[in-house]
Amino acid sequence: MLKNKNILIVGVANKHSIASGIAQSMYEQGANLAFTYQNERLKKNVESLAAKWGSNLCLPCDVAQDKEIHNLFTKLSEQWDNLDCLVHAVGFAPKEELDGNFLDVTSREGFKIAHDISSYSFIALAKQAKKLMKHNPGSFITLSYLGSQKTLPNYNVMGLAKASLEASVRYLAVSLGTEGHRVNAISAGPIKTLAASGVKNFRKMLSFNENRAPLGRNVSIMEVGNAASFLASDLASGITGEILYVDAGFNITAMGAIQEEE
Ligand code: NAD
Repeated sequence: MLKNKNILIVGVANKHSIASGIAQSMYEQGANLAFTYQNERLKKNVESLAAKWGSNLCLPCDVAQDKEIHNLFTKLSEQWDNLDCLVHAVGFAPKEELDGNFLDVTSREGFKIAHDISSYSFIALAKQAKKLMKHNPGSFITLSYLGSQKTLPNYNVMGLAKASLEASVRYLAVSLGTEGHRVNAISAGPIKTLAASGVKNFRKMLSFNENRAPLGRNVSIMEVGNAASFLASDLASGITGEILYVDAGFNITAMGAIQEEE
């Protein structure tokens, strides 16, 4: 599905990352992959995972730094003359924002950081990625969560940042649509990752989702990855500005799939 497509994946931290499920699926679909790592601490990890996916293209990028984003695309353009897809699987809010009553724990600084790293960074990367999408219409994909639409305990300011990210998917779809580029988000169900462990009582979210989702289970990073492969592929050529739920159906229920005796 992705043969001869050059895809940049931003957001691999370790093998549990959603970005790793995306990389595995895209690799299986024949894509050429490049990766970024947030800092030197994660470099070795990302490099050894990338080798598994047939890639030796790993570049540093802290998305809070415009200079690093600029350098990333300068270096990438020395290796690739075209980019077909950008995957943005990055999110962050300070831990203390994700523990307690929303009004009590939300600070101006935490709000700024959450929105900068989790939402603005998609726009900042898209600005540069677009310049390298020269030959074919490109695909931009980001990762969101239901907390953008509904409240969840402790998700707090991340819910606001994801709402902003989803709005930017729609605005970017319009900005880039004139050139044929597509912009979509996958709203994944809860999955145990490094970022997720920052949300207090995350295990409760996992079991709540599992017990109430129509499919009666949680989703895997491979299932999210396969949806990303579809969105990156020409099979999705008519889809843009969408938020695609990959959550075993949890978002469609009001009371969940609770059995009557409960
Ligand atoms: P993860 O911890 O594996 O990945 C988060 C990534 O963000 C890491 O690779 C980290 O290095 C990167 N990152 C954070 N700050 C950065 C910065 N300043 N510069 C560059 N990179 C930075 O966790 P994940 O769950 O795979 O998260 C990926 C995306 O999926 C996030 O947007 C997250 O909100 C979203 N998501 C996660 C879940 C879940 O339950 N795990 C559900 C829905 C959506």
